Amino acid sequence: MPTDEDFADDFRGSELEAVGVSAWFGKRKVLQRVSLTMPPGSVTALIGPSGCGKSTFLRILNRMHELVASASLAGEVLLDGVDVYEPGGRITETRRRIGMVFQKPNPFPAMSIADNVTAGLKLTGAKASRDEKHHLIEQCLTKAGLWKEVRDRLKQPGGALSGGQQQRLCIARSLAVRPDVLLMDEPCSALDPTSTRRIEETIAELRDEVTIVIVTHNMQQAARVSQQCAFFLAEDGTPGQIVEAGPTRDIFDDPVDPRTADYVNGRF
Ligand code: ADP
Ligand code: MG
Repeated sequence: MPTDEDFADDFRGSELEAVGVSAWFGKRKVLQRVSLTMPPGSVTALIGPSGCGKSTFLRILNRMHELVASASLAGEVLLDGVDVYEPGGRITETRRRIGMVFQKPNPFPAMSIADNVTAGLKLTGAKASRDEKHHLIEQCLTKAGLWKEVRDRLKQPGGALSGGQQQRLCIARSLAVRPDVLLMDEPCSALDPTSTRRIEETIAELRDEVTIVIVTHNMQQAARVSQQCAFFLAEDGTPGQIVEAGPTRDIFDDPVDPRTADYVNGRF
């Protein structure tokens, strides 16, 4: 059961590092020895055209890639220096530490807002009293920027919320198991501009305590929320190459590769 101390101010998330990661679906190679360090206390944006391997890369980071029967991979993913693919490594614990939010908000629609937030605790086996649960629900909904809107309707079903609220509920649910890293795959693509702004505000506040990796097609969003950017490309039918990665300011204002300049300026 997470306590306030687990969310203490000096908590800065974990370092996540991909080292020479290659991935295949069957015989088709879709990631080409990708290496990227995602430092604590930061937001890393993964940008690049559709089909270039961003979602695959994200799913490898928390061991979801291996859920696809035809999938295989090589290389290492290190969480605070420990390989999450180490034989005997605990998959459930890895997925607890590395949470995921998807493009389409996916709360449990018939489950109450409150129960949605605590749904992940069952998987971790954490025991919590009613008071502890209530405190956690308020804390996580507050962090996700949703508490004020739902505090009087916690028993209503998650499916009754608007799309943007559902996405923030999903973020709250991810936070309840106290992740070190939060992976977000186009979390705003299905949302209106106001909801998008709320999510961006939430990301900005969370980055002090959770390492965030976000896939986005919105270049302004990448520029606003991230400190680091990695530009993925599929060239000559070969997806999964990082053309350039570095501080967001450099990627936008002073990119090394002309293909990066073209992409971030919409000349693709
Ligand atoms: P992005 O998120 O950048 O759009 P993806 O990671 O989804 O790219 O896809 C990378 C490549 O892997 C694409 O060529 C895609 O068709 C292929 N791919 C993705 N998921 C699967 C899957 N489950 N089975 C087979 N191929 C897949
Ligand atoms: Mg994708």
